[in-house]
Amino acid sequence: KFITFEGIDGAGKSTHIGFVADFLAARGKTVVSSREPGGTPLGEKLRELLLHEKMHLETEALLMFASRREHIAQVIEPGLVRGDWVLSDRFTDASFAYQSGGRGMDRGKMEALEAWVHPQLQPDLTLLFDVPLEVARERLDATRTLDKFEREQTEFFEKCRGEYLRRASQYPERFVVIDSTRAIPAIQSQLSQVLEKLL
Ligand code: C5P
Repeated sequence: KFITFEGIDGAGKSTHIGFVADFLAARGKTVVSSREPGGTPLGEKLRELLLHEKMHLETEALLMFASRREHIAQVIEPGLVRGDWVLSDRFTDASFAYQSGGRGMDRGKMEALEAWVHPQLQPDLTLLFDVPLEVARERLDATRTLDKFEREQTEFFEKCRGEYLRRASQYPERFVVIDSTRAIPAIQSQLSQVLEKLL
């Protein structure tokens, strides 16, 4: 199975990936944990560029999909073929949220990239960690220095969040929206229930 983790910066998704990996491993599943942009040696180089260089919006989207193409070929597909559980910290929904929702890239172009790079592949489950902007900002500021993307204004993250929620209602069969303002144990118990259903 293929599970993706989504949410705006500061929504808390990274905290919960480890929990899901441990939960599945405890049930005897082989788990592959990965991330985007990144997930492969080339992808990690692209990630460095994406996080630190200024570039045209469409260049950014293309590099995201270049990283993704490599990730699918080297990590996701081989994992799924072996019967492993593949967990990815972000996938194509993040491109829609950030490059289309947040930065305004044409959604039709994004759909064309998706249809080109992974016409068949979709996550079996997408966990969307959702929080209001104020909560996300507080969490980020408390823990670490902000990268290029994170410094952008609240308005940008509002648009990203809106696009995530729009996609969640467009694809209810694979999305589960997690109210990430709650305490960690409450979220973990919801995650356990969602995962039990998938097992
Ligand atoms: O998930 P993570 O925090 O590691 O992502 C790194 C950065 O890349 C984030 O600040 C996120 O805003 C940005 N990003 C993006 N577009 C994507 C994926 C990630 O702007 N499609």
